[in-house]
Amino acid sequence: MATLGNPSNTIAVLQKYKFNFQKKFGQNFLIDTRVLDKIISAADITKEDFVLEIGPGIGTMTQYLCEHAKRVAAVEIDKNLIPILEDTLSSYNNVEIIHQDILKMDMERFVQEQNPGNPIKVVANLPYYITTPIIMGLFESHADIHSITIMVQKEVAQRMQAVPGTKDYGALSLAVQYYAKPEIVANVPPNCFMPRPNVGSAVIRLIKYQEPPVSVNDEGQLFALIRASFNQRRKTLVNGLNNASNISYGKDEIVRALEEMGLPANVRGEALTLEQFAQLSNQLR
Ligand code: SAM
Repeated sequence: MATLGNPSNTIAVLQKYKFNFQKKFGQNFLIDTRVLDKIISAADITKEDFVLEIGPGIGTMTQYLCEHAKRVAAVEIDKNLIPILEDTLSSYNNVEIIHQDILKMDMERFVQEQNPGNPIKVVANLPYYITTPIIMGLFESHADIHSITIMVQKEVAQRMQAVPGTKDYGALSLAVQYYAKPEIVANVPPNCFMPRPNVGSAVIRLIKYQEPPVSVNDEGQLFALIRASFNQRRKTLVNGLNNASNISYGKDEIVRALEEMGLPANVRGEALTLEQFAQLSNQLR
């Protein structure tokens, strides 16, 4: 099977199998080898690595991963792509094709079974409609993951990497930065995909922390506070938290906690760092 990652070989495979793109699965296949090279080098894949690829499509990036990694597991939801993958990956004996919805997999168990005692690397050109649930699902599963290198919508990558006080800073920035150190490694224009998406894309690498960078007594409360603060972006933090149905602290308690942290009562959520949100959560408790 010829190497994919260019328009003519991709079209040949699609025609051979009379494949129809399914919009509902966010299918935009990569057709640019330079982007593939960048992803592989950003993910720092070596012959020691077990790689989980989410959504292999027709196997374009999977071929690259098989060349560079020790072993690859490729999880694809679309049953019509399974026979294609068996064909395009037939010359590799270090790949397992898994027909599954990634959101329904028990990640912690999967990693323990597949690569006991060692962290895995996740690499994916993600279906954009479920980017956040996939990433948060991977982090919250507590599976042993070294890093996640993924293609996402450009705006989403910017939000993940954003710092306090900027327009992109929000609940997603804080959630991602609680678990990992983000770095955008490439911007990718729509003409690198078939069919072309309507949005720009970016590759972002998330290197997972062994331990979160802040210590909190109650993770659930920390994330509830963060979500409530950004639900009503234009309100002050105190009003945002006071209006949230799942936060039971009164205005006075919140103002007192902020004062103890040296913050004014009219501060907005977007001004607080992750460390300050953690401090606030611990103070309130
Ligand atoms: N990796 C391929 C490439 O770069 O050319 C395809 C990327 S395409 C943006 C996203 C892929 O994810 C599609 O193959 C789609 O069918 C698959 N997909 C969508 N939802 C999924 C899910 N819940 N679980 C696993 N795969 C999924």
